[in-house]
This record gives sequence, C-alpha cells and structure tokens, in this order.
Amino acid sequence: MPDYTRYYIAGAFLGGVVLTAAYNRRLTNSSDCNNSPDASKQQHKILAILSKINDLDTLKKTLVELESSLVRGEGAGDIKEGIEGCIGNTPLIRIKSLSEYTGCDILVKAEFLNGAGNSPKDRVALSIIEKAEEKGLLIPNSGDTIYEGTVGSTGISLAAICRARGYKAHICMPNDMAVEKSDILLKLGAEVERVKPAPIVDQKQFVNLARTRAAEHTASADKPGRGLFADQFETEANWRAHFTGTGPEIYEQTGGSLDAFVSGAGTGGTISGVALFLKSRLPAVKIILADPPGSGLFNRVKYGVMFDPKEKEGTRRRHQVDTIVEGIGINRITHNFDVGRELIDDAIRVNDDQAASMARWLVEHDGIFVGSSSAVNCVAATKLATQLGPGHRIVTLLCDSGARHLSKFWAQTKPVGGAENDVTLEQILNA
Ligand code: PMP
Repeated sequence: MPDYTRYYIAGAFLGGVVLTAAYNRRLTNSSDCNNSPDASKQQHKILAILSKINDLDTLKKTLVELESSLVRGEGAGDIKEGIEGCIGNTPLIRIKSLSEYTGCDILVKAEFLNGAGNSPKDRVALSIIEKAEEKGLLIPNSGDTIYEGTVGSTGISLAAICRARGYKAHICMPNDMAVEKSDILLKLGAEVERVKPAPIVDQKQFVNLARTRAAEHTASADKPGRGLFADQFETEANWRAHFTGTGPEIYEQTGGSLDAFVSGAGTGGTISGVALFLKSRLPAVKIILADPPGSGLFNRVKYGVMFDPKEKEGTRRRHQVDTIVEGIGINRITHNFDVGRELIDDAIRVNDDQAASMARWLVEHDGIFVGSSSAVNCVAATKLATQLGPGHRIVTLLCDSGARHLSKFWAQTKPVGGAENDVTLEQILNA
C-alpha cells in the first residue's frame, strides 16, 4: 500500500475520533444536533482537509488545528469574536417596490446592520483603530483617547469600538445634527462637544476642533495616555476599509453582475473605496454620486468646478449647507473623495422633498425604515434605473436606521399611512 494511502486512512480515522470527541463536548453544553446542516458542512470541510494530507507532519499539524478549532466552535456555529466580529458582511437586499417600478434590480447593501455603531462607519472606525494599533499609537486601558470630528455616525462607531478595545472617545460634532446621535454618544460614554456649524477655515469647525483637542490631550501632563485624531476625512484607512470590505462584498454578492453603484459622499471614503475596487474588476461599471442640496460635489463631478466662487468656503461665515439630509454632501475636496474622484462617471442631485418622500415610500411599501442619506441613495438609484432602462442592476447603500433621524429628518416627513400615501414613484422622482 503506498505511504500516502496509509496516511489518508490514518488521518480519516483520527479525524473521525477528533470530530466525535469535539461534537460530544459541544453536545454536553448545548442542544446542538449532529445531523444539523452546520455539522454536515463541518464534516465535509474535515474530509476535504484530510484528503489533502500526504505526509505525517502535515497530518499531525492538521489534526491539532482541527481539534482546537472544533473546541472553539469555529465553523460549526456562527460565533463572532466580539462586537468587531459583527462588522462587515452585511446583506444585499433587492428592494421589491423600486425594482418592480423600474424593471431593474435595485439592490441595497444593508450597512445599518453593521453591529457596533450600525452604519458603514463601523468599517472605517475599526480600520482606523487597527491601523493605529499596528503603529503602536494606541495602548488599551492607558487613557489613550480617540478624537474625531463627525456628524455623528463615525463618532458612534468609534465610541462603541473604543469601549470594546479599552480606549476613550471624544467627539466634536455640529450642533444642528439630530439630537439622537449625541444622545447615543453620551450613552456610549463618549465626551461630546456640539459646536456651531462653521466653514473649514474656522479653527472652531468641528473637524479642526477635534484635531486641536487631540494635540492638547497629548501635550497635557494632567491627562493619562495620548490623544489620537482619527481624521476620517483625510486618512487612508477610510477608503481602504471600503476597498477591502464593502467593494469586494458587493462584487461577490452580485457574482460580479452589476451595471452601476450609487452613493452619496460625506468624507468620500465609501464611493472612492468601492469605485476603486469595482472598476478594477468591472471597468464598465458606472459609479454615480448621489448629492443633496448645498453640496458642491454635484457640480464638481458634472462640470469640474466645485461651486460658484461666491459660495467658496471661507468667504462667507454662515453655514452653507441648508438641507435636512445628514451625513452626505460637502463643499471641499477631501483626500478620501479625491482618491476615487476620476472614477465617478456622473452625479444625480436629490432634493429634500424627494428624500423625505422616498424614506416614507420605503416604509409604506417595503417595511424598510432608514435615515436621510439612505433615502437620497434610493432616489438616485431609482432615477438612474429609469435613465438606463429595464434589465439593469444597480447597487446602493442603506447607511443607517430612521431611528437616528426621528427628531429632524423623520419629523419632516408626512405621516406613514396618512392621506398622502398614494404618492407615486414618478411624483417622487419629479418632485
Ligand atoms: N451616510 C451617513 C449616515 C453618514 O454619516 C455618512 C458619513 N458621514 C455617509 C453616509 C457617507 O459616507 P462617506 O463618509 O464614506 O462618504
């Protein structure tokens, strides 16, 4: 009998012993059942591994790894390692009402199901923290504090992950954002500074303030640990989280079959990261920016100019963005937007009425309760579908839940189930 056959037989036998022992151990602790789909998946996995063994050393090593992974329950159930394990791999959902109306597949990536801060910013916050840890810039339980300027979502993700990793969070945000976001931050134990909206040239602007606060912390002899400015608008860790996560997930979930990706931009990390990944695999895919009122990005994409010179940031002191939409739209080119800027094929402007009506439509027709940027994305995706015509497949994002927007965006939508709920999608698109 050739050697490898003997090893295989021995391996199969020992594998069986390990498998039985491990499952017996699990069965004593749970009502798990050996003939569950998980158990049969596990058995197939083991047989596949064993069939590759052709020497004794590999056999021994494989069996040791197999046993410890079974004891940990890996692969048998679906156990996530901490809240960080619940970030990414969000579902891709076909929105039935919008797909039926347009004859296209309107697919939405349910980013509000990320487990820590319930938005795509979980990916970014984790990426920023991991990169800082790799560089030795953060030491758990030392008083090290992450400072960030955010309209809310990134702050919530950072605050939650900071708690899980032994850091503190200090969040600077504009005071015109929905109060739910600062309430959540406070409940997560973050320090919150709500400041007057101001242009980026103002040192009190929320992003500048966070940078200053981080430096003050590091310089202070009274505060334990150091201050780290997360810098979501400029850091590479932002778009890269989408380049390695959101983009590949969309590609896999659609089997590489999609015609367009639609997204708003706040920092620009999502649209750039996803565009860079998707265009590298699917050069023909269209990347479309969805832009709310008051943002300069629409003009930048369409006409190459950011905005009218009289709107230029720094020339006026008052807050320029006048919209109920939160989280997207900006009047400067950030590094994260710039990285993917040339890959953006077109832009669609969405007004507040359209966003509010779409949010209500999604509840009325699909039972989906989301926030303002998600509604903007869905208006733009539906509009694009009507432009492309039936038979196309368009992917966009649902960024966060409507629960985070009750006091502002949702307070301005008409009542769900109310008298005006017979509005048509055509009316929404033309509002
Ligand atoms: N939606 C929401 C609710 C957000 O908070 C943000 C980020 N500010 C975005 C969308 C936009 O994502 P990005 O920063 O990657 O452009």
